[in-house]
Amino acid sequence: MKPVLCDSHIHLTDPVYDNFLPSILATIRGLDLKACSVTVNNSTSLKGLRLFEEKSVHDFVYNFIGIHPQYATENLSKFEEIVIDNVNNIDGIGEIGLDPSYIHENETQYATQKKTFQLLLELAEKYNKPISIHSRKSMDDILQVLPSYKIQSSLLHWFNGNKKHLKQAMDMNIFVSYGPVLLYSPDKKVLLKETNIDKILVETDGPVKYSNCFNYLPSSSISHLLSVIKYIGDTLNLDFEDISNLLKSNSENFLGKII
Ligand SMILES: [Zn+2]
Repeated sequence: MKPVLCDSHIHLTDPVYDNFLPSILATIRGLDLKACSVTVNNSTSLKGLRLFEEKSVHDFVYNFIGIHPQYATENLSKFEEIVIDNVNNIDGIGEIGLDPSYIHENETQYATQKKTFQLLLELAEKYNKPISIHSRKSMDDILQVLPSYKIQSSLLHWFNGNKKHLKQAMDMNIFVSYGPVLLYSPDKKVLLKETNIDKILVETDGPVKYSNCFNYLPSSSISHLLSVIKYIGDTLNLDFEDISNLLKSNSENFLGKII
């Protein structure tokens, strides 16, 4: 049987993909892949809901909608309205989170990010949706705020914490995802070995491009995902079928449904 593989974090609504989205979707469908499409603000959220609402597409592209910390000043009542209007077509809330690198003027900007993040967590709790979290340089704050909410399941996408953070995340039953950087970052390799195998997910974070062995090729390339999966399998001593089955069941536990 062909394995079902899931890219747990990709920005299919990014304008970079506009001209060739139909061919990406055809490839995802043709290879029996699944993708969690994440968005960053109100307009990309509406775009994703429009692009992937049709059942034939929604069968393999899952709609996460969110407000990225870069857009923390977005109109939140509008976002809430989008969630309420589309609650049955929304598979998760993301990309959401905190990131002090976007603070350029004063500290109140970080306070705004926190307020926005907390409202998004409230929505995820209220509507029982999984979340996809951006935690660059904010892992301590994120891990501190999460226990205040009853979230169905959480993913620290592009896990970028240290061993202590990883241990905390595992104790909190949080999923972590690894992307193409795993193949050339010694730090990530160490973390992978310390991750509970039932909490590992994979992602491309497309359209991000990767250096080293990936030579800055577009990361919608399915081969990126396959390389990551193969690498994780080799590290854990699992053949391709076994690692694929493990990742499929992890994705189902994260999403709360059969994929
Ligand atoms: Zn992202």
